[in-house]
Amino acid sequence: LPVVAVVGRPNVGKSTLVNRIIGRREAVVEDVPGVTRDRVTYEASWGGRDFTLVDTGGWDPDATGMAARIAEQARVAVELADVILFVVDATVGVTDADEAVARVLQRCGKPVILAANKVDDQRTELEAHALWSLGLGEPRPVSALHGRSSGDLLDAVLEALPQAPPRSEGGSGPRRVALVGRPNVGKSSLLNRLAGEERVLVDPMAGTTRDPVDELIELGGTTWRFVDTAGIRRRDRELKGADFYAAMRTRGAIERSEVAIVLIDASQPLTEQDLRIISMVSESGRCMVLAFNKWDLVDDERRYYLEKEIDRQLVRVPWALRVNISAKTGRHVDRLVPAIEKALASWSTRVPTARLNAFLNELVAATPPPVRGGKQPKILFATQAAAEPPKFVLFTSGFLEETYRRFIERRIREEFGFEGSPIFINMKIRE
Ligand code: GDP
Repeated sequence: LPVVAVVGRPNVGKSTLVNRIIGRREAVVEDVPGVTRDRVTYEASWGGRDFTLVDTGGWDPDATGMAARIAEQARVAVELADVILFVVDATVGVTDADEAVARVLQRCGKPVILAANKVDDQRTELEAHALWSLGLGEPRPVSALHGRSSGDLLDAVLEALPQAPPRSEGGSGPRRVALVGRPNVGKSSLLNRLAGEERVLVDPMAGTTRDPVDELIELGGTTWRFVDTAGIRRRDRELKGADFYAAMRTRGAIERSEVAIVLIDASQPLTEQDLRIISMVSESGRCMVLAFNKWDLVDDERRYYLEKEIDRQLVRVPWALRVNISAKTGRHVDRLVPAIEKALASWSTRVPTARLNAFLNELVAATPPPVRGGKQPKILFATQAAAEPPKFVLFTSGFLEETYRRFIERRIREEFGFEGSPIFINMKIRE
């Protein structure tokens, strides 16, 4: 989905506007400085178009040095978004922080929509005109709180969205790989090892002056697009709010990718953050390779505990491919490419309808679904509705229980492969 990022300094009403756009009261609106929220992206829809909304307001910089930090926030938004929605408080007018953001946005080469917020009535509408001075074109007056003109604002956002979503290029161009993982697992070390020095091809966006965010890397005779490597290489760990940026980048990189390599520090116990990134990938429908890094530090005892952790904590992604590597020594790094190739092949697989139905007929005859309410549910017809990720639809004559659906998923995987790829099975009940 195309990505719209909402930027602006604290208290201009970003969260209220986000709530207005997603039509829910999900984003926490709090006037507490420094409030950090976990959830920063939302699926939104307007005029029949779906997009992902990223709220950069989850992290509020403190007042000192705010202009610089908020400019950094804008830079992150520019990296991951297709359209930037810049929110300014029209009743306050232009502040230093607003100007710092505007300077970043003027040069970014992406569409920017300037929202003049808190224009609750006709009288304040005049104040919105002062925002022309930001050099970002026409300020669009809006009242996030009362909803005034928010439809017009969304129309403008919609118009600026790329026509064809940039990431569905119909299979042409290099495959897009996201290298993700919590800080210090070895992402930049691995990237350096993979890319070497001279084999890195920088890929600047035509007609813009922004930093290149992706790298084209040739591995095993194939060119791969590693997305958002700028975010990996940049040493912004010391920055306040670095974790927040890291989380946003991870999500952005996954959204833009087709296959994700989730890097894990095998020498340490699995953490919540590792698990959160893994679920982010599987929920996004991308295929996945789990790379257990720092294998040079793994001894027999650690290995024993790691296997236990994997058995216990990764039960929901038994399909993810695993490789044990060391970015430091280079051990088995050459196994990554075959793994991502295999995952992508599974992800793109289409099972012919006739084969699928023949297989399911046999399966159901041998192991019928459990009877519910005295009735025997039947699978009338099945089809794979989509690939990348694979989605199946089962038309049934009654409700199939969760355990039975999981059984079907398991058997479909055994029969048709799908190693490294999530698959989704929907049920449509025909009475
Ligand atoms: P990032 O935050 O994920 O990009 O992690 P870095 O690449 O900066 O690595 C974090 C630390 O782990 C650095 O001190 C690396 O030298 C170290 N490191 C990375 N990969 C390995 C590995 O395979 N083995 C060992 N022993 N150390 C590693």
